[in-house]
Amino acid sequence: MNEKNKGVVSFSPEALKEKYRLEREKRLRPDGDTQYRDLSGVYKDFDRDPYVEPGFTRPAVTETIDVLIVGGGFGGMLSAVRLRQAGVHSFRIIEKGGDFGGTWYWNRYPGAACDVESYIYLPLLEETGYIPTEKYAKAPEIFAHCQRIGRQFDLYKTALFQTLVEQMNWDEDTRRWNITTNRGDKLAARFVIIAGGILHKAKLPGIPGIETFKGHSFHTSRWDYAYTGGGPMGGLSKLADKRVGIIGTGATAIQAIPHLGASAKQLHVFQRTPSSIGVRGNRPTDEAWAKTLQPGWQQERMVNFTAIVSGRAQDVDMVRDGWTYIFDDTDSRRARTPEEAAELRKMADLRKMEEIRARVDTIVKDPVTAEALKPYYDPLCKRPCFHDEYLDTFNRPNVQLVDTDGKGVERITPTGVVVKGKEYEVDCLIYASGFEVTGDYTRRLGFDIRGRGGKSLRDSWADGASTLHGMHSRGYPNLVLFSGPQSGWAINFVHILDEQAQHAAYIIEQCKKQGVETIEPSEKAQQQWWEVILSNLTKNASFGGPDCTPGYYNNEGVRPPPSAIRSAGFGGGTLEFIEVLRNWRKGNDLAGLEVTLGGTSPTP
Ligand code: NDP
Repeated sequence: MNEKNKGVVSFSPEALKEKYRLEREKRLRPDGDTQYRDLSGVYKDFDRDPYVEPGFTRPAVTETIDVLIVGGGFGGMLSAVRLRQAGVHSFRIIEKGGDFGGTWYWNRYPGAACDVESYIYLPLLEETGYIPTEKYAKAPEIFAHCQRIGRQFDLYKTALFQTLVEQMNWDEDTRRWNITTNRGDKLAARFVIIAGGILHKAKLPGIPGIETFKGHSFHTSRWDYAYTGGGPMGGLSKLADKRVGIIGTGATAIQAIPHLGASAKQLHVFQRTPSSIGVRGNRPTDEAWAKTLQPGWQQERMVNFTAIVSGRAQDVDMVRDGWTYIFDDTDSRRARTPEEAAELRKMADLRKMEEIRARVDTIVKDPVTAEALKPYYDPLCKRPCFHDEYLDTFNRPNVQLVDTDGKGVERITPTGVVVKGKEYEVDCLIYASGFEVTGDYTRRLGFDIRGRGGKSLRDSWADGASTLHGMHSRGYPNLVLFSGPQSGWAINFVHILDEQAQHAAYIIEQCKKQGVETIEPSEKAQQQWWEVILSNLTKNASFGGPDCTPGYYNNEGVRPPPSAIRSAGFGGGTLEFIEVLRNWRKGNDLAGLEVTLGGTSPTP
């Protein structure tokens, strides 16, 4: 946080808590998560890939391989790299996009940048010898880094781009997964790693009349530069004579709005809940500092950051930014009892949000607009945002905040957007309405997985997931899942993805060395892991919570069905999860996995 506002103390905790409660109540709605709609129907064109030439064709591939990796984002690329390093070279990567990058392939909206420090967020910096040019690198640089990894580790020849998995079935006779795709490919893979990411299915608000809009519209994850002009660095010159509306003020909108404000004739920002906007403090990389970095520096920095944001005190805060400030726990360390520590932590949270609100007043000139931009909830109820130009954008004469007082947009008409009975006419409507976040893993993936006996994973997990480490599930041999239920979780997601990639590579390497053909978690191992999940449920400070303002972190404030608890992540902390995986590997005995030895159908 900005030092200037640090130390704001003049507030009434009780009054604030009451205000938080009232703001939360305004936003509760019975339809919860079902208020959103997907892109099918009239909006299916929103999902078209604008970055590839239409009409792509290629010969279908029929192959027998050791490993299929689903997803060519950070998780998939890291898996491929770690497999190569473990001596496993027979693999394919299937990716929906036209290149590597995952979220950084799709999200090219103006202003897109990482919001976790680039020195810990961009993977494999030491391996590639690359140092990002800024503390928070912009999207084109991150996408280029993905391509660099692809080239350096010779991954391009393994990739099947613009390809979707259609079916994935376990074949008991060959002890392989048979995979078919929308390009006619037929792959038989001994192992499958699903690295499909978490936030990749765009969603739209289910606003009445949304399909009647006659102007131009698109979702932020498929930015239409042909219409707006410019590029990810801004300069949206074709908007100079356009009235633009943007729905949503989450982490994406925060980054895009300053560019829209700079270029559009008129910009209406339709807000339901304000984000908290902390100081960003981006700066170019200090070359002298970069030269001092010693081998192992990236891992050390990642661990330091993750420790701090997991509540583990560190002597130094290497990253020292808005994230580590939110998690700074100095106040509660002077407590003598756990109760006192909890109370001090609550007070610190209130104070930090007071600082965020005070910052709005220092930047936004119109007091009504300033008040509407103030978030009234705890720091981790919504994804914290950090930006140094967003708030100032509302001082522009061509930018108007249309606050919906927590209710959301009322209606969309052929010509505009209606809020509190007033229509705002727009030529272009941009949906910054986010992505599907659902406990249904296979819905997120877009295809079902049929394991032993043809049983679908969707059915197996209908009453809740069962896993070992959130990475293996009984009935689904040789399947490794990332970012699924009961898995570890991290603010710097790359940190955990790399650990999972190393874990997967280790298991596959061991299987190959020991002639193991199948692995599958035992019933007992899954039960034991479930007990670990249960005993850690509330251990660490985490996002969302039942008392939070609604959002995707808390199922839009609606109590989830009892089975949803089985989709909980490992709550013991990121570093603890990593230690669980590392200690398991140290055992060198594939503990908890039932194995069958091979002899049949070796990979050619
Ligand atoms: P979000 O889901 O965070 O935001 C969606 C926005 O749409 C919210 O402001 C929401 O309001 C609003 N909205 C939904 N329905 C309506 C409605 N009916 N009327 C008005 N407004 C509505 O999506 P984002 O794409 O912004 O971010 C998703 C996630 O992606 C982030 O949380 C983050 O994890 C990641 N991300 C990371 C970035 C980075 O690293 N640089 C950048 C961007 C995103 P409400 O809050 O009231 O629901």
